[in-house]
Amino acid sequence: MPEKLHIQGAVMSHNAEMLHNSEGVPVYGLYIDGEWRPGRGEQHEPICDPATGDVLAQVTRGAVDDTRDAIEAARRAFDEGPWPNLCPGERSQILHRIVDAIEARQDELSDIEMRNAGSTWRKAFLMDIPVGVLHFRHFAKLADYEPLEPVPQITFPMRSYNFVQREPIGVCGQIIPWNFPFLMAVWKLAPALAAGNALVLKPASLTPLSALKLVEIIHETGLLPPGVLNLVTGPGAAIGHELATSPLVDKIAFTGSTEVGREVMRQAAGTVKKVTLELGGKSPSIVLDDADMDVTIDGCLWATFMHNGQACESGTRLFVPDVIYDSFMERLLDRARRIHVGLPADGETDLGPLISAAQLRRVEEYIRIGLAEGATPALLGSRPTDPQLAHGHFITPTIFTDVSNDMRIAQEEIFGPVLTVIKYDRVEEAIRMANDTIYGLAAGVWSSNIDRAVEVAKQIRAGTVWINDYHLINVEAPFGGYKQSGIGRELGIWGLHEYTEVKHVHAAMTSSRKDRFWYDILVPLGSGDGE
Ligand code: NAP
Ligand code: MG
Repeated sequence: MPEKLHIQGAVMSHNAEMLHNSEGVPVYGLYIDGEWRPGRGEQHEPICDPATGDVLAQVTRGAVDDTRDAIEAARRAFDEGPWPNLCPGERSQILHRIVDAIEARQDELSDIEMRNAGSTWRKAFLMDIPVGVLHFRHFAKLADYEPLEPVPQITFPMRSYNFVQREPIGVCGQIIPWNFPFLMAVWKLAPALAAGNALVLKPASLTPLSALKLVEIIHETGLLPPGVLNLVTGPGAAIGHELATSPLVDKIAFTGSTEVGREVMRQAAGTVKKVTLELGGKSPSIVLDDADMDVTIDGCLWATFMHNGQACESGTRLFVPDVIYDSFMERLLDRARRIHVGLPADGETDLGPLISAAQLRRVEEYIRIGLAEGATPALLGSRPTDPQLAHGHFITPTIFTDVSNDMRIAQEEIFGPVLTVIKYDRVEEAIRMANDTIYGLAAGVWSSNIDRAVEVAKQIRAGTVWINDYHLINVEAPFGGYKQSGIGRELGIWGLHEYTEVKHVHAAMTSSRKDRFWYDILVPLGSGDGE
């Protein structure tokens, strides 16, 4: 019989992640040192469906002392446990078995993602979860990496044997946002585990449920040593501060707003932690005058409105050449008017709700700013009147034309379904404006001439440039930002390496003291002992 524990009128098993309160709502604990625990403060927060306002669960409001417990557990697991010292092949096998368990629960995870993150049924079931599983699988494979890398032969001042060894960094604090909760959890957990680290994950307060389920599934496999994986829910500022400042944490990985990213970096400076940041964007999508209209119109709408623009890489600044402007815009607007906003579970729905009432107000505020700046609302978003949608954070798409690149709506990350269209004359001018931003996460180039498109792609200051496509984040390729869009890269071997330290080992290949380069420096000439 698992030990039972009472919190706020509910019963919680130490062996399971959740209990049900009197209304049948699951209540989640914190996952620390290989077990589910109540928070020390015994406070909970309701988690709501952004489409309906329904309470889906109660999660623990973890605090600083819970975070410390989790960090200490991770520290012990790293310093004393087997995980970092397993041979890569063993870790890889364990992670493959974990991915098998996750894959078997895809439908359940998709349903959670749809309800908690406002993802449409189509996106959750066809993209969010299967792509996350694919990415986890890739890191299970990459875990079987060769930790030794050769160094070119060194013969000066004498022959030596040299190699570089990649080692896990240690304890990683990981903070993720609400927009793609499952995928972001995978992007943090999978490479950190693959490289042999221990970690503490802090999901976004609005959307912790798929990360909790992911950790529950991993827990149930029983395959990870206790303390390797920890999850603490609760307010970002308190938990984030502890993760960023604790001397027991070696690295902090953050995905979210540029504003909070700057703060995390400042806080991490005190202990000179390794920092990787995936931050905001205001990505350009540049249409060339020879673009194929069919794929480009749909592609540009996909670039902007996928998940209501709540993606860091969203292509929210659209550059259209004046020679095709009128016909292009006519078709784009016609297509955009047919985007159907509705309940996520409805198979006909293209766009669901925004994540929160605050996000909805933020988007409405930016629409007001755009109008005040003199942009033309070619399509003006509004809250839908359908009574079915009355309890969710819904808004229809907005497309502003007559935008100049220095307007706030063209420079600031709105994180909502708002497209700004900028007309251009010469391609060089479009490239200059595209780069005229503090961000540099991604870009799109649309052209039937691949040579022309590649020439433009080369001149864009961004970590990813898609040609005739958008949002196709490939697990084999690096993803991350130039400029204030971030530091470091996720995915591929580049992403794995962000979770490793690089050690150079030099072994002298002669035993003669006189052959040492320092011999004549430290020991005065002629004072040798006759060696
Ligand atoms: P945010 O504040 O940057 O939150 C992202 C994550 O950081 C969440 O887990 C959050 O926890 C945590 N956090 C909050 N304050 C923190 C702090 N002082 N130190 C450490 N961690 C902290 O983003 P948001 O408030 O959810 O959204 C605001 C805006 O950020 C959006 O409108 C959008 O423009 C941008 N955003 C960008 C991305 C991206 O992928 N680039 C993702 C999300 C948001 P809590 O959830 O507990 O606050
Ligand atoms: Mg915030």
